[in-house]
Amino acid sequence: RIGEVAQELGLNAYLVGGFVRDLVIGRKNFDIDIVVEGDAVTFSKEVAKRLGAKVHTFERFKTATLIFPEGLRIDLASARTELYRSPGALPEVDTAPLKKDLMRRDFTINTLAVKINPSEFGRLIDFFGGLRDIKERKIRVLHSLSFVEDPTRILRALRFATRYRFELGRHTERLLKMAVERKLFKTVEGQRIYHELKQILLEENPLRVFLKLDRYGVLAELFPGLRWDREKKDLFEKVRKSVIWHKLNFPKLSPDTDYHLVYLLALFWGEPENRVKEYLAALTLPGKEERELLNLLKRARELLPRLESADRNSTYLSLLESAPEELLIFLSAVSPPEVSEKVREVATRLRYIKPLVSGNDIKALGLKPGPVFSELLRRVKYAVADGELPPDSREEQLAYL
Ligand code: ATP
Repeated sequence: RIGEVAQELGLNAYLVGGFVRDLVIGRKNFDIDIVVEGDAVTFSKEVAKRLGAKVHTFERFKTATLIFPEGLRIDLASARTELYRSPGALPEVDTAPLKKDLMRRDFTINTLAVKINPSEFGRLIDFFGGLRDIKERKIRVLHSLSFVEDPTRILRALRFATRYRFELGRHTERLLKMAVERKLFKTVEGQRIYHELKQILLEENPLRVFLKLDRYGVLAELFPGLRWDREKKDLFEKVRKSVIWHKLNFPKLSPDTDYHLVYLLALFWGEPENRVKEYLAALTLPGKEERELLNLLKRARELLPRLESADRNSTYLSLLESAPEELLIFLSAVSPPEVSEKVREVATRLRYIKPLVSGNDIKALGLKPGPVFSELLRRVKYAVADGELPPDSREEQLAYL
């Protein structure tokens, strides 16, 4: 339908980037990007009107996001047509804006486009050999200065190589090594590095990307002095398992859980606090995220020994009941097996215990409402957790009060 609108307005529209790449590779991808040869803002407004979608426009960047009632989001960008384009331009000239847009991209596998105008619907456009590189399972840059132009592409290259189990092209690998040697990360804004780092930590297996980052000397460049030994690698693997456990058990909490923070806790675990602060300052983390991370690290350090010496369900519960999901996941990864088991029991069962008695029952006993109420109810909860009270007998819980 979007292609039909484009056709009617006399514009060319293309699906581009990750969506097309993953379509060819056969991997799910719900990030739909469209490039329009023309003004994407005007075009998106027209699409929104005709197809009943909401639209957010960013006039400065000439981009827009369409949001359809069923929740589908589509990002649109403009490939600016040459102003002096003649009316009777040849087809080759017609694709020039698209080609220019694709030329600025990171790797050949990300330069594929599919035309969506009805007249040529589904035509695959491959200016830079992206299709061949997908077949050969190679990550290749478009030109020799690519990593110099934007060193965050080093992180992207290793992320894609890991995700698709592709190799770096020979020339691309050489260029990557040279870029790392020239310490080009120093020239990049911290928040751009952090953005890519976060993408890595949200991959299925960040450890495998980190092994590559280490092998190419990127890790030492980003985190000078960081310990990256067997123990830390094992911790990454344990975090991965805990993250899977959490996603499976708490699908409703998943969308609001910052899994990348759990990996950052693992990365910085055991490092001196000032050094962690230096790393975070260099990455210019958003203030809120930085405070959250430092706070989680501190809480994990304090809680671990106390959990290790706990011996009752109610103790685990009282230590953990106010812990955010990220902390629970990390503690379940970093603790010895018996403690880890208990952390998971708190998360899946103990924290959901609801006393069958309420404030009204306490009032009926003649007590005045106050802090003592919640304390009494908490005692009931702890007694249930410890198996001293049956979870399903209101009588016994009343008697306990
Ligand atoms: P993912 O599956 O991880 O979302 P993606 O390719 O969609 O992968 P994005 O980071 O959303 O990743 O980038 C969208 C597109 O923008 C990419 O396909 C790529 O062509 C381009 N791009 C992103 N970052 C860069 C960069 N640093 N340099 C050049 N092109 C980039």
